[in-house]
This record gives sequence, C-alpha cells and structure tokens, in this order.
Amino acid sequence: MKIALIAHDKKKQDLIEVAKKYKDVLSQHDLCATGTTGTMIMGETKLEINRLKSGPLGGDQQIGAMLANGEIDLIIFLRDPLTAQPHEPDVSALLRLCDVQKIPLATNESSARIMLESLKNNTFFDCLD
Ligand code: PGA
Repeated sequence: MKIALIAHDKKKQDLIEVAKKYKDVLSQHDLCATGTTGTMIMGETKLEINRLKSGPLGGDQQIGAMLANGEIDLIIFLRDPLTAQPHEPDVSALLRLCDVQKIPLATNESSARIMLESLKNNTFFDCLD
C-alpha cells in the first residue's frame, strides 16, 4: 500500500509518536511524506520515506497529484486546527480529493491509530469491502 504522511508543525511530534508505535506496520508499505514531516520521521524511526516538497512549498499538491493518479491508498494528515496555515487552499484541495476518490484519511492522532491498528490486524481491507 502507498501511504502518505503529513503533519502540521504543532502535530509533528504526535505523528512521530504514531510512526514509532506502528513502525513495523509502516515499514511494510511504500511511504511518502511532505518534506519536513518526512525528514523528522526518518530521523526518529529510520523508516524509508520518499520525501516530497515541504507542504507550504507545494508538497500537499504533489501528494494531491499522486492521489489523482491512483498512487496513494491512505493518508495520515495530522492537521493543526488552531493555527492558520498559509497553504490552507492546498490543504483543502487535498482533503477534497480524498473524499472524491474515497481515500481513507486520518486527520488526527486517534483516527491514525485506528487505521494503523486495522492495517496491523489485517482488517483494513475488510472495512473497505
Ligand atoms: P512539512 O509540510 O512536512 O514540509 O512541514 C506539512 C504541511 O504543512 O503541509
């Protein structure tokens, strides 16, 4: 499966904790991430991650393009709902595309854990049938 990882600045530590907890699961999949998120997770977990541009510099749009091309199966995007983002239009466009394509999307740590737990337990695809 192709999994995209994104976290706004105040949520990066949360995503690192999730990635550490589910490192064994994540390591079995193709991972990509926006630039800073990917660099930080790689530094903390040694997971192999295809790093794209930083989110504000087009990384969210790159992931959106991949999604439109059928190259993304799951997105974990830990958003910061309390801080204005300069690239909010890119964020909205990506979330919209997830809904258009029915791509599973976790926007907070709890939903990310539930999704990764279902991948770990091999029940993820049962839910999508
Ligand atoms: P970053 O981008 O991983 O490069 O910080 C994330 C975002 O803000 O969309």
